[in-house]
Formats: sequence, C-alpha cells, structure tokens
Amino acid sequence: AIATKDLQHLFALIAEDIGAQRDHLCELDGAIGDGDHGLAMDAGCEAATKAVGALDPAQTAPTAVFNAAAKAFLNAVGASSGPLYATAFMRAGAAVKDRPELSDEEFVRVFAAMAQGIQERGKAEPGEKTMVDAWKPAADAALKARASGAALAECFDIAERAARQGCEATRDMTAARGRASRLGDRVIGHIDPGAASAAIIIASIAKFTQ
Ligand code: ADP
Ligand code: MG
Ligand code: MG
Repeated sequence: AIATKDLQHLFALIAEDIGAQRDHLCELDGAIGDGDHGLAMDAGCEAATKAVGALDPAQTAPTAVFNAAAKAFLNAVGASSGPLYATAFMRAGAAVKDRPELSDEEFVRVFAAMAQGIQERGKAEPGEKTMVDAWKPAADAALKARASGAALAECFDIAERAARQGCEATRDMTAARGRASRLGDRVIGHIDPGAASAAIIIASIAKFTQ
C-alpha cells in the first residue's frame, strides 16, 4: 500500500528528476515554444514537493496530498503546464477514497485519472504533439497491464516505455495545440517539451514503484 509519506517521497523524486533536466526541457521548448518549459516544470514540481512535504503524514490522507500539490503547482506556474498539471493532481485526489493509504489498484487509477484530467483540461487528442502523447499511451498501458494481473512495478515499467515511445513519436508531428501550433511544419523534427517532461515524470513514478 502507498501512504502519505510514500507520496511525499514520490513528489521529491519527481522534483529531483525534473530539476536535473530543467535546462534540457528549456532547450526543447526554445526550439518550438518560448523556452520556459524547464523553468515552469521545475518551479511547479519544487512548489508541489514543498507543500506536500509540509503536511503531517499522520494527519493527512493521500487525497489532501494531491489537493495540496495541485494548488501549489498552479500558484507557482504561469505557463500552460500550470493548469494542466494542477488538474491532473486534482483528479488524482478525486480518484481515491479518503483513507490513509492507497492500494496498488488505486494507484493505477490515480495515474489514469491524471492522464484523463490533462486531456480534458487541454482538450488535446493524441497526435497533436502535446504531453497527451506521452500521458495517454502510458495510462492505457498501465490500465491494461493491471487488468491482466501485472504487479505495480511491472505496470509502470510498461507505462514508462509507452511514455518514452509516445514522446519520441511527437518528433514527426505537427502541433495542433499550444504555441507550437502557430509554427506549422517548422516543428517537425523536434520533440514536444511537454511530452518530454511527462516521460520524465512517468519514469520517476516507475522508479518509485520498483
Ligand atoms: P507555455 O507554452 O505557456 O510556455 P509550457 O512551456 O510550460 O507552457 O508548456 C508547453 C507544453 O504544454 C507543450 O509542449 C505541450 O506539451 C503542452 N500543451 C500546450 N497546450 C496543451 C493542451 N491544450 N493540451 C495538452 N498539452 C498542452
Ligand atoms: Mg513554454
Ligand atoms: Mg511560457
């Protein structure tokens, strides 16, 4: 089972991994956007980790952890990724029962709820060169693996690979959402920065479940 202290550890892990790739994510965004994606994700993940880390694990259920993360992420980020991840964390909180621990089953549901929240908030479909191209195949893969009885670590190992593949596939796409949609064919050959940061986060989650 996954308790609040485990989620605090997960947020710290994500913040560390995103922080390590901050400049790389800015470079990716510099090619097809305004170059701030690494700064936005780093600030959001740091703020979420700090807010979540300040909660008393003995007094705080996972639902409240995700709600605190959502609020902190939104307040810290002025870019489009702000409301997208804030929605993801809100949906994560809404996907679980208000109990002290998450079952493995619930944790997979949380992951799928995050992906769906991002998709609904941004209204992007797969193939439009956004973070959805990493989140959606990863969530589908995790749900499918879980339904066929895979253990949590295996579900997220599969999800991590799906996210990386989905991210890589954005290289050949034109963009239908966000800033990159104004650049037409000029974005072909570049990976979408939001898909790249999503793949990093999903890899952090996979590491967490090992
Ligand atoms: P901004 O473009 O406002 O500077 P960021 O740089 O933080 O925001 O994030 C850019 C990323 O946001 C894109 O690479 C893309 O993955 C994602 N994105 C933009 N619009 C949408 C959308 N409508 N739905 C899903 N993801 C989106
Ligand atoms: Mg940007
Ligand atoms: Mg910006």
